[in-house]
Amino acid sequence: MSAGMEGAVALEGVTKRYGAETVVAGVSLAIPPGEFFTLLGPSGSGKTTTLSMLAGFVMADEGRVMLGGQDMTQVPPRGRGLGMVFQNYAIFPHLDVAENVAFPLTVRRAPKAEIAARVAEALEMVKLTGFERRYARQLSGGQQQRVALARAIVGHPRIVLMDEPLGALDKNLRYHMQVEIKEISRRLGTTVIYVTHDQEEALTMSDRIAIMERGRIAQMGPPRDVYEKPETAFVAAFLGEANLLPARRDGDAVAGPGGTRLLAGSGALAAPQGLLFVRPEKVAIAPAGGRTEGANSLPGQVRHASFLGNVVRYQVEVAEGATVLCDAANGAGTPLHAPGDAVRLSWRAEDSRLLAA
Ligand code: ADP
Ligand code: MG
Repeated sequence: MSAGMEGAVALEGVTKRYGAETVVAGVSLAIPPGEFFTLLGPSGSGKTTTLSMLAGFVMADEGRVMLGGQDMTQVPPRGRGLGMVFQNYAIFPHLDVAENVAFPLTVRRAPKAEIAARVAEALEMVKLTGFERRYARQLSGGQQQRVALARAIVGHPRIVLMDEPLGALDKNLRYHMQVEIKEISRRLGTTVIYVTHDQEEALTMSDRIAIMERGRIAQMGPPRDVYEKPETAFVAAFLGEANLLPARRDGDAVAGPGGTRLLAGSGALAAPQGLLFVRPEKVAIAPAGGRTEGANSLPGQVRHASFLGNVVRYQVEVAEGATVLCDAANGAGTPLHAPGDAVRLSWRAEDSRLLAA
């Protein structure tokens, strides 16, 4: 093993079939040591199967699994030296907290003194010092999740796999645990391969995200890139609210609803005809005849205004009955537009792209 490669992870053309169905189709990715990497996608897109091939629970039909620069394709799970947290990988009910956390070290027959020191350290990291003698039934959901996290990191693995670890927690606790996981992995320099179907969770936590669609990686990149520069309508819609307006290519511009000439960002005119993408928060709204922002502008009429507190979300009807969503920050002195109001929407060319339909 070459020095510095210990935390590296790679999949090379990995494929898994069940009967006639290919559930992971030639997935390749390379993750440098210390990266927080997320597999994001809808249910059934192949996230768990991909993670299970990394763990060794599922054998790939084709391709290679590389861990720490070594070919581990044929190595069973316990030879891979990984930490793991799974959604339904509950903590053992017949063991107390300290015994649960110690488990990976006990199995390895580590010396007693070392086990005690590592367990104390791991419990401190997840803020459960003092809970050593409790059992699962005496812990809240969030505390059980922290025990599972302590168990995953107690052996100081260079690579930790997590499959929807926060799925069962309520929103506040989830946010708290997201911060905790991020912080601990950064402190230990651990490579994390994280699976979630929650786009916000993926955007907050990850260095890079791979969006999976039917067993393939649809797009991969840093959160901001995949959010702002989606390459397909699927990626655009999966990562949040997206306007996808019927449009066709017209020279170096785009003909949008009503034939209005619009400009799209560079490198974003891949298709002759398709969908013009722009996020609702990039669309400015002003009274008809008011100020516009950027090269693109469309007249419309407010159909619906939802007051969300910090944001007002408008549904605006434009030509050809198309609807554009526009999120306006509820800042100081921001005027509200009412249903029926004539308005003008505008956005910058670089905030929109023409995607294949
Ligand atoms: P995800 O984690 O993204 O929800 P999975 O990897 O669990 O997706 O599943 C991907 C696809 O593979 C699904 O269609 C699922 O039904 C199928 N699948 C997963 N495991 C098996 C199995 N052991 N036998 C047959 N089909 C499976
Ligand atoms: Mg899954």
